[in-house]
Amino acid sequence: MENDNDEEIENNHEGADLWGEGAYAKTFDINDPNLQERMKYFEEKSDEKKEYNCKKCNKQIGKHNLYWHEGMCNDCFFNAYDL
Ligand SMILES: [Zn+2]
Repeated sequence: MENDNDEEIENNHEGADLWGEGAYAKTFDINDPNLQERMKYFEEKSDEKKEYNCKKCNKQIGKHNLYWHEGMCNDCFFNAYDL
């Protein structure tokens, strides 16, 4: 069977097409003075220190979530955007 979606599948991060949903695009602002700092945390690292709390449920989150998930844990962020 032909698969035309190779590229699309590669771009998906663990199956979730976040760019397509516009959630990350919304938080991406090139005029943001903190963008360089934020870009350092663009990739979510599993060894990231979790020194912040989700603003919704208080679960511990790292800077990746602080910068890219509007200060929410993955669950709350994905719920907020229906992902
Ligand atoms: Zn949460």
